[in-house]
Amino acid sequence: MGRRIFPLDSLTIDKIAAGEVIDVPSSCVKELVENSLDAGATEILVEVALGGRELIRVTDNGCGMGREDVIASIDRHSTSKLRQIDDLERLSSRGFRGEALASIVAVSHVTLISAERNGEEPLCPATALEVEGGKVTNVLDTKARPGTSVQVSSLFFNVPARRKFLKSPSKDTADISKTVTCLALAAPNVAFRLFVDGLCAIDVKEEPTTPLLSRIRALFKAPFQNSAFEVHYSREGFLLTGVIADPCHARSTRSGQYLIVNGRCVHSLPISYAVKNAFGTTCEEGKHPLFALHLNLDPASIDVNVHPQKKEIRFSDEEWVRQRVQESVSEALFGKKGFAPTSCFSSIASTTSFGGDFSEDPFSEWRPEVCEEAPVLPLSLSNSSSAVGVPVCLGVVGDVALIKPPTPCDPAFPVPHDSLLLLDLKQAMRAVTFQQFQSPNEPLLTELFLVPVIVECSVPEAALISSNIPYFEKQGVLIRSLSAQSFLIEGAPKQFLDLDLSKFIIDVCQEEVLSTQDLAADLRNKRLATAYVASMKSMKSPIDSATASSVLTLWAKHNFPAFAPDGSHLYSQFTPSSLKEWIAKGGAPIVKSKRGN
Ligand code: ADP
Ligand code: MG
Repeated sequence: MGRRIFPLDSLTIDKIAAGEVIDVPSSCVKELVENSLDAGATEILVEVALGGRELIRVTDNGCGMGREDVIASIDRHSTSKLRQIDDLERLSSRGFRGEALASIVAVSHVTLISAERNGEEPLCPATALEVEGGKVTNVLDTKARPGTSVQVSSLFFNVPARRKFLKSPSKDTADISKTVTCLALAAPNVAFRLFVDGLCAIDVKEEPTTPLLSRIRALFKAPFQNSAFEVHYSREGFLLTGVIADPCHARSTRSGQYLIVNGRCVHSLPISYAVKNAFGTTCEEGKHPLFALHLNLDPASIDVNVHPQKKEIRFSDEEWVRQRVQESVSEALFGKKGFAPTSCFSSIASTTSFGGDFSEDPFSEWRPEVCEEAPVLPLSLSNSSSAVGVPVCLGVVGDVALIKPPTPCDPAFPVPHDSLLLLDLKQAMRAVTFQQFQSPNEPLLTELFLVPVIVECSVPEAALISSNIPYFEKQGVLIRSLSAQSFLIEGAPKQFLDLDLSKFIIDVCQEEVLSTQDLAADLRNKRLATAYVASMKSMKSPIDSATASSVLTLWAKHNFPAFAPDGSHLYSQFTPSSLKEWIAKGGAPIVKSKRGN
């Protein structure tokens, strides 16, 4: 048999290697901006068009490069930042592998113009380099302002497989905004501007005082303002600073968690858990608090070389770091400020104009229910809901209705006709509203608000919300764009009354529930449910008779769902024999009888 194994040609090797570093448009933006930061820039301009497919241009006022360096910069494993492996331990630059430019030029058309500063001259001698799919097509001497501009067009033009798997331009735009947001958070002393399809999306200036806090407030709106907690903690070579949002803003995903370790934007599950642990019971299961934190450690105690795009890091003593983080967050929440649940409710009340009763008694949530005060509805209610197919209501205590199954028996609800059911009306209302939201049978009636609800969010979130406005409109939720980082909810169906709408909208958009067309229906519903449950407000007012009967009618119309969106049971069922047994055992259905069998 002849020879079958041959070395790949260098262009193919470069294209394969490029996939590791530049997999999506946002990773190209990240690499270019990191280069600008490494070059000491104090101003960085990022321009993108069509989610980065058509254009990505990053311009900086950094140190620039001379002609020889411009040509060398696009070679694989060519870097000015690392000479030998030991340098990694003391590294302060973001880049070090010398792979980014080589990867970018391998899969796109690039024009790179760079000029080194020349005294106070506004225009300096510059080099312009043109590269197509890894091949240099032109090198010119020209004049330019000091700094570097890298323009990337036709990204992935020669990698059809990658083009095919790109997300939608709006999703890529959101990812790019998130990337720039993260980098702007990492470098609060640098001015950043992001233009998306010609429109300014981010414009943050250099702040002379408290740069980090000012930057956080400029980038992230409402959750990081008044009710948020500042973190300042320094001990034994460990420095943690930043802001943690009140737990009532917690999300169903970790998308609102920004962590910068030694100037690098990274994800770290151990730190995410440590922050969550610090909240104790004040942040619910399944929710993730929002934070924007800078962690600074001895570079020798972290390994930044564990992820192709350096998005993850490893700590040499993870447990120690985890404990310090938990301690510092805990101090910020409970220590100096004295965290009290009121802060949560006051901020809910200030961010919503729904259901005025939420702001009236911020403590009522923490008090046990007073059963005596719960209204017991007259039996006559049963008449109003005794239409065929609708269960008969025998009475309501608090939020619970005692009902008889519909007669004749509804095939959608096969329970024995002589049984009795206890139905949680509030949970039933949620289940019905949620079903309606997942697959609207008939359009819901929009009620315009007297005072619109303001949604403030980060730029990446704004990009996702904008692209989903038509979807929400179909659900009867009217959203209008107000500025690059804020929206107005002008109306919504009254069925959404028990939702923190602004939170729900941000959460649903984060989850890509709507924008991912090929998402399987059950997965889509599962994610919608998570967002829905995370945004449910507690309904405090007791259910009145009119609401009870309309909930029963709707419950029947939606084929008697058995579970609430959070998976809890809506009703329990008693047959005559189970009731007799219950009575015989002393009438305590939850605690088992201790008097023996
Ligand atoms: P790395 O950042 O890992 O060194 P890159 O491929 O990103 O590798 O860049 C290669 C080299 O090109 C860098 O080490 C740096 O010297 C130079 N370079 C890249 N971008 C810029 C820029 N915006 N300004 C100045 N020099 C740059
Ligand atoms: Mg680099």
